[in-house]
Amino acid sequence: MRKMPGCIFCQMAAGKKPAGVLYEDDQCLVIRDINPKAPVHLLVIPRKHITSLNEDLENDTALLGHLMTVVGRVAREQGIDGAGYRTVINTNAEAGQTIFHLHIHILGGRALRWPPG
Ligand code: 5GP
Ligand code: ZN
Repeated sequence: MRKMPGCIFCQMAAGKKPAGVLYEDDQCLVIRDINPKAPVHLLVIPRKHITSLNEDLENDTALLGHLMTVVGRVAREQGIDGAGYRTVINTNAEAGQTIFHLHIHILGGRALRWPPG
């Protein structure tokens, strides 16, 4: 599994930093965002270190698909599937990416405006 030294999400995936894991399997983990922007704000994090969607991910399509199935599963478990929720992947500076290990935000538990800021 590709890891990046010093990457906080790699450290969480390796169990070297407490993360309060809500769900995990062999490919990913789900944690609560430390600075939540909605009543439910989760992060789906692949164990593999992928910097962002800007990488060539042609060989990672199964992993990316799996992450999407985990989004739905966790949303159902959190009870936000009916009312609705938003999934977000920020890529690079103008989108607000601050951690350069791919992750999917799940935001729910309140009405979300569109377009985002
Ligand atoms: P980005 O800005 O890269 O799209 O998202 C990174 C997210 O990770 C932010 O929403 C930020 O609040 C969250 N985050 C940063 N450090 C930690 C941490 O140590 N623990 C948790 N649970 N979330 C973190
Ligand atoms: Zn990483």
